[in-house]
Amino acid sequence: MPRTIFMNDSLVPEHEAKVSVFDHGLLYGDGVFEGLRSYSGKVFRLEAHIDRLYDSARAICLAIPLSKQAMAKAVNDTLAANQLADGYVRLVVTRGAGGLGLDPNKTSHPQVIVIADTISLYPREFYEQGLRIVTAATQRTHSAALSPRIKSLNYLNNIMAKLEGLQAGCVEALMLNHKGEVAECTGDNVFVVRSGRLLTPPPDAGILEGITRNAVMELAGAAGIDCREQTLVRHDLYTADECFLTGTAAEVIPVVEIDGRKIGLGVPGPITQRLKDDFHALVRR
Ligand code: PMP
Repeated sequence: MPRTIFMNDSLVPEHEAKVSVFDHGLLYGDGVFEGLRSYSGKVFRLEAHIDRLYDSARAICLAIPLSKQAMAKAVNDTLAANQLADGYVRLVVTRGAGGLGLDPNKTSHPQVIVIADTISLYPREFYEQGLRIVTAATQRTHSAALSPRIKSLNYLNNIMAKLEGLQAGCVEALMLNHKGEVAECTGDNVFVVRSGRLLTPPPDAGILEGITRNAVMELAGAAGIDCREQTLVRHDLYTADECFLTGTAAEVIPVVEIDGRKIGLGVPGPITQRLKDDFHALVRR
């Protein structure tokens, strides 16, 4: 079914939603984006996603030509126009059309695009049986080169690692930072359980501070599970009792094997299961 897209200031049919071949989002990946999800007609943590989008834009000196309020309305209007109560929303802001040079000052009119669609990232059996993942040789971008906290249209670093995962028959891949510490997966944050304690790498490991990650940390707190941000290396993952990933699209998904090592008993663990259930309850509340 053709979609209705929000483009700059109005809803238009999919075939009318177009950007220029001179758009620096296309030419250089110069722009920012967000992925959001709606459950039963309500967008999960809409404000947090919009704040992160505007923070990403601010970090690259991109002035979004819409207020946060108007952006939130655009998200809800696009979902409604596509009659999606349970949907996935992609928010994109490009630098706009400019010359064939890098200079962002020679562009005009950032393009604001809101796409609403359905998403099912992984088959149900992965949620029940858990994922096998591998560590990618591709390092997570050094935060002094480009902060992973910016959700920019430059996702080649993640795509390179994703390719390695896919070539190894895995749908996700673990990425390490330049120090060899665990950062995150290509599109998800990573958690482990060790001796009943939940651990996840801190933001300065070079990660995107996931909104699902933050929600899961809150849920752990509410469930009386001790949760800490801690530097982790692969050994900590290999020897963990449980491991799982979090992301807007993936939600909470267990990991049962990393680089050929079984994690814990090789099946999703009880704390993972609890947090997965609590997350599902939270998004539907
Ligand atoms: N890390 C990366 C690199 C991502 O692209 C994403 C998905 N946006 C995440 C983590 C998870 O973030 P969130 O929970 O906000 O979707």
